[in-house]
Parts: sequence; C-alpha cells; structure tokens
Amino acid sequence: MKKELIFLGPPACGKGTQTDKLAKFLNFPHVDTGSLLRNEIKNETEAGKEAKNYIDKGQLVPAELVAKIIKNRLSQDDCKNGFILDGYPRSVEQADKLEVINAEINNGEKVDFRAIYFDIDTNLLVERIVNRRSCPVCGEIYNLQSKPPKVPNHCDNDGAELTQRKDDTREVAQARFDTYFKETSPLIDYYQNKGVLKTIDANGTIDEVWDRLLKVIE
Ligand SMILES: [Zn+2]
Repeated sequence: MKKELIFLGPPACGKGTQTDKLAKFLNFPHVDTGSLLRNEIKNETEAGKEAKNYIDKGQLVPAELVAKIIKNRLSQDDCKNGFILDGYPRSVEQADKLEVINAEINNGEKVDFRAIYFDIDTNLLVERIVNRRSCPVCGEIYNLQSKPPKVPNHCDNDGAELTQRKDDTREVAQARFDTYFKETSPLIDYYQNKGVLKTIDANGTIDEVWDRLLKVIE
C-alpha cells in the first residue's frame, strides 16, 4: 500500500537529518515545503511567479496557492509509492486541506497515512542552540558541549575565530518553541483523534532516534 508520512516536530529536533535518511532508505521523495516553494520561484513556474508576487509585497503566500503547489508536487510520478512530507501541514486548516488533496491525488484509493511526531525535551534543544558556533571561513559547525573545537573558540580547520548567530540566544530560541507549540499542539490532537499519530522519543543520538523511527514506519 502507498505510504504517506508526515513529519512533525519543533525546530532543531533532528527531524531534517532523519527525514533525509528515511527518504533514501525507503526510496521516497522528501518533500520539504520550504524548498518546494523556493524552487517554484527559482524555476519561474506559473505558481512560482504568483507566489513571488505576494512575497515581494511582503505578504503571506495564500493557503490555496501553497496547497496547489503541494498538490502538484505530490501528484508527480516519484510520489506514486509514497512520500515524506515535511513542513506541512502546520495548522488544522492545512491538515484539512491535505486530506482533500490526498483524496484527489489517490482517487479515493486507500493509503497508509501516518503523522510522525518527534517528541523532544525543548530545554535540551535550547541548550544545543545557545552553544552553537560556526566558522565564518569554512562554515564548520561546532557545539561547545557536544562538539567543541580543539582550541577554545577557534576553528580546527583554519584557526579562524568562531562566531555565534545573532538569533541563537535563549530568548529567541524559547520564543520559537513557544510559537511552534502554540501552532502545532492542535495538530497533534487532530492526528491523535484520527488514530494516525505515531510519537517517537527524539531525545538521544541520531542512531537511537533512527532505530525508533524504523519501528513506527513498519
Ligand atoms: Zn573553519
């Protein structure tokens, strides 16, 4: 049966890494809504041009247009056996829209639909974010706790002084998580009520989380 996987989880929860790994493992496309939209704009497709008009005016891309772009992508041949959708839906309204899209692209045929929620201790994520440093020369990413440079505050590759992103502060990180939970909590309930929610413990190493992920997609 065709498998449709929706990935939910707060920013920096490790979802991106696991999605890429799983997409390769299952040979499914990883449909990331953010890149999808950027590509449409870059390729100057009809929908892309329309989206750009809104963005240039500083407006949000309308829900209908986003849904149309997603539907086009999910209708393509490489999604026939399944796909992983990341970054969509972000609200109950979008989840309803996705149901409509699904019914249309599958012609009413039954699919194995699962929403996978990466459950993680956000206090640990905040620590991870505030300890993040990068090299302005080679782009290497360090973490003062989990991956410190050999010489404090200098890149192992080229000795350049490491920098911290301006928005990698405790306040900004916490605010991002607060917004995420406010938007997403209703979505978790939504999929729970439909009986398609699979929650995985996303605390731990990449390999540990990967093992848990494999168990819920079987
Ligand atoms: Zn460097």
